[in-house]
Formats: sequence, structure tokens, C-alpha cells
Amino acid sequence: MRNAYCSFCRKSYKDVGPLVEGPGGVYICGECVELTQNILDQDLSDYLEAQGGPITPTIQHRIHCTDSDPGTAPACPVGSP
Ligand SMILES: [Zn+2]
Repeated sequence: MRNAYCSFCRKSYKDVGPLVEGPGGVYICGECVELTQNILDQDLSDYLEAQGGPITPTIQHRIHCTDSDPGTAPACPVGSP
């Protein structure tokens, strides 16, 4: 790993420790892996929020009401969205 340095933060492996090598001579250090994981987690939360959030009991109930046979399904509140 000659004079490899992280392709993201530009720090040398001597400063940040072992680097993971990717294709095309790119490297990423542990600090950047942790950072990107946080960014991805945040993006995932934003994405789920944009999609209407994680499935809540209310949404599950709505799906249940929509998909069920009206004859056998428990009564759904009239006028609920
Ligand atoms: Zn880095």
C-alpha cells in the first residue's frame, strides 16, 4: 500500500490507519466509512419520510381495509381516508 491515501478525505494511511482499496486505485479510510454510513442513514430516513414514513399501524390498518374482502373484513371506520 505504498503511499496510499484516502480518496475522500485525502489523509494518508499513516494518519488514518488501514484503507480499503476500491477499483481504479481509490481508497477509503475508516473515518470516511463511518461518515458515509451516517450520511446514508440520514438519507434513508429522509427517503422514508418523503415516502410517507415507515409503515405505521394506521397505514397498516388502511392497507388492511383496502385489501380485505368487505364481507369478511372487520368494519372500517366510515369516511376514513
Ligand atoms: Zn478518509
